[in-house]
Amino acid sequence: MAIEIKFLGAARSVTGSCHLVRVGEHTLLLDCGQIQGSHLDEELNRVPLPVGRVDAVVLSHAHIDHSGRLPLLRKQGFHGPIYTHRASRDLCDIMLRDAAYLHEKDAEWQNKKRHRKGLASVTPLYTRDDAQAVLGQFAPLEYGVRQRILPGVEVRLRNAGHILGAAIVELWLEDAGRTVKLVFSGDLGYAGALLLDPPTPIDEADVLLMESTYGDRDHRPFDATLRELESIIRGATDAGGNILIPAFAVGRTQDLLYLLAEHYDAWKLERWQIYLDSPMAIETTELYWRYRDLQRNGLFREGRSPRLANVIASQTTEDSMRINETRSGAIVIAGSGMCNGGRILQHLKHNLWRPECHVVLVGFQAQGTLGRRLVDGAEHVRLWHETIKVMAQIHTVGGLSAHADRTGLLGWYGAFKKRPPVCLVHGEPTAQQALAAGLKEKFGAEVRIPARGESAVL
Ligand code: ZN
Repeated sequence: MAIEIKFLGAARSVTGSCHLVRVGEHTLLLDCGQIQGSHLDEELNRVPLPVGRVDAVVLSHAHIDHSGRLPLLRKQGFHGPIYTHRASRDLCDIMLRDAAYLHEKDAEWQNKKRHRKGLASVTPLYTRDDAQAVLGQFAPLEYGVRQRILPGVEVRLRNAGHILGAAIVELWLEDAGRTVKLVFSGDLGYAGALLLDPPTPIDEADVLLMESTYGDRDHRPFDATLRELESIIRGATDAGGNILIPAFAVGRTQDLLYLLAEHYDAWKLERWQIYLDSPMAIETTELYWRYRDLQRNGLFREGRSPRLANVIASQTTEDSMRINETRSGAIVIAGSGMCNGGRILQHLKHNLWRPECHVVLVGFQAQGTLGRRLVDGAEHVRLWHETIKVMAQIHTVGGLSAHADRTGLLGWYGAFKKRPPVCLVHGEPTAQQALAAGLKEKFGAEVRIPARGESAVL
């Protein structure tokens, strides 16, 4: 019997994070994430995971590309424990239900078209009932506590600083009288993040599985982001328009709310109405508030909350529609972050053609999304079969990333005393090759970039 890792997802790509660890007779999964991207890519989620019997899952964090296939794993017959930080459990409660709802809606929409063509129905990837059922398998952990989860397997979670509850996973694997320490970075946060502490440095590992999302670049300095936001708000105040901020519900939205609270006076925000127009973002923000002890800058910390009196949580579709009657003085934070769906579309329709309005894109915009077309300077866009002229000012604001940049990744590796061999995961090939070169050059590290389906014997 040996100790073996098999890379099942997020290998030479960034989504579908899933790695199998076999210790003696026991099998453990690190993450069980959804593959995201084009429709064709996403169809791959329907292929059963080649895992055999699984005894337990350790989940690094709640993002769907790390957690999204858990309901499917359950449908495949897995009824064992899913170990994760307690805040990740609560976030998964929000995110898996939301993902399931989108799968149900998607199947409904496809079936309407299929039935008209005389084709058979498709089923949703999973339903809200499936999501609810798998949540019952979660076994919440704390940071910093080492505990045995299987014969020959001990685990300890450390703060990864990426989103609320995100963890670096330390595993002690014991087989035939020897112990191997495997460290899985999960997604590592940006040391300059607003709300969370930087990733905990780890100094010991025999083998390291490390993310490499931004292995080839550094983020822009945070000061530049602040100055940019301030000048946008000033410009919009003078012009008398609205500001739309397409944002991701988890992390980015809370960062923005924190920034708006922090700079409330300087940016003269008392004359604005700030709409948080997303039930999921509202729920997540409440969770960030509940877990403020895990953050270095408690969101809405005492003394700050009154300043956010003009934040309006917009729950229902009617609430959301009503915002469109406001011609000026509204800051609207709504999803989706890349404008490929969600409530932001309605707001774009009402504001994009008005030169006094501003759209602020605060996250990565993937190829093929409406957000990307705006960044690329499209003069017209199509929304619900209507052509809209883009007259609003479009801004791309970097510096609010939830991921470590190249300097951060190299620095985190630098804390390991014995320069353990590294398997790079969770990155596009160019970023991975650049990071591998950096790790070799700076530390003499032995680096491997495994492809999906490859394995390594420890
Ligand atoms: Zn993540």
